[in-house]
Amino acid sequence: MSTKNFKPQSMLCQGGFGKVYGRWIEETRFPPSVSSTDDSSSEEEEEEEEETLVVLSDDSDSDEEDITLRLSKRPSFSSPKSVTLPNSNVLDCPNCFNPLKKPIFQCNNGHLACFLCCIKLKKRCSFCELPIGDVRCRAMEKIIKAGLVSCSNAMHGCKQSTTYGNKLLLHEKVCVFSPCSCPIKDCNYIGSYKDLNNHFRGTHKQSPGEIMSFVLKRPRIFGLELDVSDNNMVIFQEEKEGDVIVVQRFIGSPGVYVTVSHIAPMVPGVRKFSCSLAKLKQYSTLRLGLRVKNIQKPRSQEEQPEDDFMLIPSYMLSGDHLKMQICFGEEDDFIHMLGQ
Ligand SMILES: [Zn+2]
Ligand SMILES: [Zn+2]
Ligand SMILES: [Zn+2]
Ligand SMILES: [Zn+2]
Repeated sequence: MSTKNFKPQSMLCQGGFGKVYGRWIEETRFPPSVSSTDDSSSEEEEEEEEETLVVLSDDSDSDEEDITLRLSKRPSFSSPKSVTLPNSNVLDCPNCFNPLKKPIFQCNNGHLACFLCCIKLKKRCSFCELPIGDVRCRAMEKIIKAGLVSCSNAMHGCKQSTTYGNKLLLHEKVCVFSPCSCPIKDCNYIGSYKDLNNHFRGTHKQSPGEIMSFVLKRPRIFGLELDVSDNNMVIFQEEKEGDVIVVQRFIGSPGVYVTVSHIAPMVPGVRKFSCSLAKLKQYSTLRLGLRVKNIQKPRSQEEQPEDDFMLIPSYMLSGDHLKMQICFGEEDDFIHMLGQ
């Protein structure tokens, strides 16, 4: 799409706004007589915009300068109009980069600033130094009011959209479509954790030795190599739903740290696991029950864990191979005390 597709006859562009450029609106026609600061004007005008729907998708592949407004081609006169902005950055204040909120101000060159920035900038436009803070930008206020922004995980399947600003940030913290990275070395796949599970099953099925399938409550013996520096993990996949869990080891001075992590976002609605992890030695066994932590990508080798790990002390180590046993369960299966 190019800026040629922009349709200035859009209802949203009443008031003389011709082009939307990157982070600000370039004004093409602005009669000074219209630049009233009177807040009571045009309440009616605002009401008639209620039916306008703006959908913003944050497509990181798109050129930031390439902002296109598209009107839906619904034939009905009364049907809501849908406008899509491929990049939601245009709705951020170009000075502080926070989401724009009413009131929004503009200088005589059409540069925008939020209310707080006008105060901080002492009413001087940061781009051209003209006065700013007396002339409202009502067209932008309308876009913000009517605007819906899609979740930044839309590309991973999230259909959630909401009005621009804080509400979306709240959603994104609990979005089950948050991106997760495939733990296989040299595989650059990123997707929602469910897609990752499928990807894993489809693409890495033929990598025996690296991947072990598991069933809940059934213990498995596995080995971690201590000498191979670029392979510090064993990957498990749950047989039914395909949840991917990585067991990683990190070598420190007091011994070897072992972590168990589910490759999934830490949000409600995602399956939770716990595990019983054991290091076997001839006459002793070190065993730990722990909650499997959700992480969206495996830890790098240098990222030594600070908590939620098993520390295998040096005296329990022999040779370069760590023979261990793991048993997965749901939620808190392996965390509670015996008899409780
Ligand atoms: Zn600002
Ligand atoms: Zn300016
Ligand atoms: Zn989402
Ligand atoms: Zn992969």
